[in-house]
Amino acid sequence: AHWPSSGALRVEKLSARYALDGPRVLHNLSFTLNSGERIGVVGRTGSGKSSLTLALLRCIPTQGNVWYDGLDTAELNLESVRGGVTIIPQVPELLSGTLRRNLDPFDQFDDAVLNGALRDAGLFALQGTDDESRLTLDSAIARGGNNLSVGQRQIVALARAMVRDSKVLILDEATSAIDYKTDAVIQASLRTQLAKDVTVITVAHRLQTIMDSDRIMVLDAGNIVEFDAPSAL
Ligand code: ATP
Ligand code: MG
Repeated sequence: AHWPSSGALRVEKLSARYALDGPRVLHNLSFTLNSGERIGVVGRTGSGKSSLTLALLRCIPTQGNVWYDGLDTAELNLESVRGGVTIIPQVPELLSGTLRRNLDPFDQFDDAVLNGALRDAGLFALQGTDDESRLTLDSAIARGGNNLSVGQRQIVALARAMVRDSKVLILDEATSAIDYKTDAVIQASLRTQLAKDVTVITVAHRLQTIMDSDRIMVLDAGNIVEFDAPSAL
């Protein structure tokens, strides 16, 4: 469960496509991320941001190499890769049942830990304590998570990553579905992860959201056109 231990990442000549005979959507990307680094990824719609998040976990056909802590994903089984690296998609699917089940499907943690993760992920910052519709560990979750907003689903997925102690977190921000406040709460909770040396990749739709990242990667048509400190862009 504690792989990778530091969250350093090296990518070399990474290309990806959705179908084996389909067009490439990422072209020979190479970059490295230090443990605990926080980067933002921006680019117009269709530039390959979500594809990059999928390629980093080899969820789509890829060429090239991705190393986490010096271990090549090509030599690891994908189960263990996906166990150590958390990807939060633009529209997360939740498990039906309770919120508790989503955070702790194998019943391994105390409620205090689970509530702490929900707090750290920002859920309680978004709902008043007197709000009758506020979510608790016992709240029912409908199939896929359809009774929660997309922003709430992302926060639950973030809390799950915190419970799992993932050292690499890849967040593909919800597009129009997310309001400014939710966006800000998610970014604030990601900042608190820095203390734990979690490497964070945030795909953002507002440059403003990620201006305090260590570096910003700009994608265009599946290529990296900039990757530098925000002040240098
Ligand atoms: P957005 O800002 O709208 O989320 P994005 O930068 O995440 O855009 P991607 O979803 O990575 O863009 O798309 C990159 C390319 O891959 C586009 O040409 C797109 O049409 C293609 N693509 C994305 N998803 C699929 C899919 N499931 N099957 C085939 N092609 C896809
Ligand atoms: Mg996308």
